[in-house]
This record gives sequence, structure tokens and C-alpha cells, in this order.
Amino acid sequence: MSHTLLVQWTIKPRIAPRPWLACNRCRTVRPFEPSGKTRLNANGRRLDAWLIYRCSGCDSTWNRPIFERRHIRDIDPATLHALQNNDGAWIEKVSFDLDGLRQNAGRIEEFAEVHVEKTILNPAAASSLRVEIVLGLAMKTSLRTERLLSMELGLSRKRIAMLEEAGRVATTPLGRNTLRRSVKDQMRITIDLAGEADRNAILSRAGP
Ligand SMILES: [Zn+2]
Repeated sequence: MSHTLLVQWTIKPRIAPRPWLACNRCRTVRPFEPSGKTRLNANGRRLDAWLIYRCSGCDSTWNRPIFERRHIRDIDPATLHALQNNDGAWIEKVSFDLDGLRQNAGRIEEFAEVHVEKTILNPAAASSLRVEIVLGLAMKTSLRTERLLSMELGLSRKRIAMLEEAGRVATTPLGRNTLRRSVKDQMRITIDLAGEADRNAILSRAGP
């Protein structure tokens, strides 16, 4: 048995980022939400594809380009198949693709709400003094690392800061202020809980 409880946290954002766009009907700037629908247009051998968003105020639509005027031979077959079959999982992935959305919208509202699925990779022993958390991100999120730890481990931000100051929180990759930045895929966080009276409660919250 190891002295470190090793867990994987798979993080999925709950709410897709919303572009704020000028709505003609509302005559103001409004957040638009993905409708879960796409549009595919063919013009000879060239195709256009869009993800359709709806104004949160009036249901007007905005078409976010996925590609435009692209020759059919240059389109990834899996993408084409997903578009032709209205593949819900694929559409969801595109809806959460923040970098893709940034190419077409200036102002974007991001959400920090996430769903965290916890898996134990190496169980705790009675003598476990540390927890090591491996993060897996299905999609980018603006959630900050300290907020994630605070929510999921039930620790106040003050306490996390104290542990950090005492040199008992380590992250990989290393970096200044990592805890105050957004969570990253493959990031590892180790917290030394030796001497903490509620160590076992914290360790149990780290797992499922
Ligand atoms: Zn509107």
C-alpha cells in the first residue's frame, strides 16, 4: 500500500460558452446559446457547415461557421459523417470548443460549472498522508484550480492558501500561481495532508 491516494478527476464543463452578439430583433447585444443543431449546404462539390445558435432573448439564430466553401475531398470523413447524421456527441464537442468559437465571436461568456467524475487509481491506506490528483479535461473550462480543489475537497480557499504557503501543495507542470489559473488537461496536484486532523475526510472526498 502506498502512502499516496492517487485519483483521477475527469472534468466536463456543464454549460457551453455563449457568444454575445448584436441581435437585430432585440436591437441590442445578447448572449446566444447553441441550439444543438447544425446546417450543411452543398454547392457542387463545395460544402458549408454551421452550428446554429439562438438568441437568449428572442430565438433569432446565428450561424457559426464550422467550415465554408470547402471541397468535399478536404473534409475529414468523420466530421462529414457527424454533420450528415446530426451526431449529438460531436455537436456537443463543437459547442464547447472555446478556441473554435473565438474565431467567430469577439465577446464570449464562459462558465465555471463543471461535472467531476472521480476514479481511484491507487487506493488510500490507513496511513495515507497525501493525495495526488490527476486531472483529465474533456473540454477547456475557465474554472480555476483552487476553486476546483475548494469545491471538491471541501477546503476553504484560505486553507488551501495556507497549505500552499507551507509548501504542501505541488503541481505538475510547476508554475507560479498555478492554483489561480484555469485547470489544464493532464495536470497533477499533490497535497500533503500529514498532521491535518480531518485528513481522512479530505481523502474520502477526493475519491468517488
Ligand atoms: Zn434577440
